[in-house]
Amino acid sequence: MNAIIPISKPSAPPMEEYIDEISDLWENRMFTNIGKKLLDLEDKLCAYLDVDYISLFANGHLALESALAALNLKGEVITTPFTFTSTVLAIVRNNLTPVFCDINESDYTLNCDLIEGLITDKTCAILPVHIYGNICDVERLEQLSSKYNIPVIYDAAHAFGIRKNKVSIGNYGDISMFSFHATKVFHTVEGGGLVYKNPEWKETFSQMRNFGISGCDTVRVGANLKMSEIHAAMGLCNLRHIDTYIEKRCLCTRQYIKRLSAIRGIYVNRYAPDVESNYSYFPIRIVAEECGASRDQVYEVLLKNKIYTRKYYSPLVSQFPIYDRLYMPSDTPVANSISNQILTLPLYPDLTLQDVDRICDAILLALR
Ligand SMILES: *Cc1c(COP(=O)(O)O)cnc(C)c1O
Repeated sequence: MNAIIPISKPSAPPMEEYIDEISDLWENRMFTNIGKKLLDLEDKLCAYLDVDYISLFANGHLALESALAALNLKGEVITTPFTFTSTVLAIVRNNLTPVFCDINESDYTLNCDLIEGLITDKTCAILPVHIYGNICDVERLEQLSSKYNIPVIYDAAHAFGIRKNKVSIGNYGDISMFSFHATKVFHTVEGGGLVYKNPEWKETFSQMRNFGISGCDTVRVGANLKMSEIHAAMGLCNLRHIDTYIEKRCLCTRQYIKRLSAIRGIYVNRYAPDVESNYSYFPIRIVAEECGASRDQVYEVLLKNKIYTRKYYSPLVSQFPIYDRLYMPSDTPVANSISNQILTLPLYPDLTLQDVDRICDAILLALR
């Protein structure tokens, strides 16, 4: 019998390594409250990501909400409907209005040609997403940001460690959010971080994640958004193995591309030559008119073979009932058609090349 292949399986250091990492916490009983592990992890992440500043949070979502809150924004935020719900929740939970911009067919990131047409006097920020690890047109966004004097905050939840022309992706925009959730390329079980260049925000985010406290008083609106020492310790361990994790993901990705790229009607994710990817997800686009099977049919055949895939991202965030049908699928036609074709395949460091072959064989079976 074939074993189940999950969509994702969190990476993990050897258990002894983790136990060793947390053992001193039992001696000093400093389990949380911005301790040694967290500060050490912040230093090591700054070095690994090649960024000036990082502030760690309990999770990526609340980090993103804090980034928007720190900028004191009012009005409309231009973003993508082709993302995880968290991106847009961060906007609406700050009492801001999302404005959905369509995406590129080639890499599923924001179509920068369309952004200017959506900018109004109410526009207060752009929130692009480096989706699946495909990076946005950061240069164009930089130009738009300075031309209209509006900040760019990246949802870089998928983009840990990516470099473009050797420049780490966290160096673009005003603030970038990385998620360190267990399913992400680098993780602290639950966790997230904001990276930025402005030194003043270090204190701002330190206060925001700790009830807005400075000294003995609450000086701004904050909450409890701290990352614990137990979580930071997992990060310290995972960071030692990160290059191996990414290498293993790369090998699986290459095998997927080798097996699937020549198939009519299957469009594999593309990798730009000037980008060092982290291979965080492997989405394919299935065009039924060309290959004879719909995305949903392929999904079902894989499921019967105990292979779990995800219709990521479908439906579009803009179509969720909480948005009261304010937004039409036809507003973002490319995103809409891609969301009906996209299927994200299993990808994680422990996936074997034999697993990838089994998945590809099942896809070919579905197309017959
Ligand atoms: C995972 C994810 C988030 C949220 O991160 P958490 O750490 O799980 O809170 C936000 N945006 C995107 C695109 C994500 O994939």
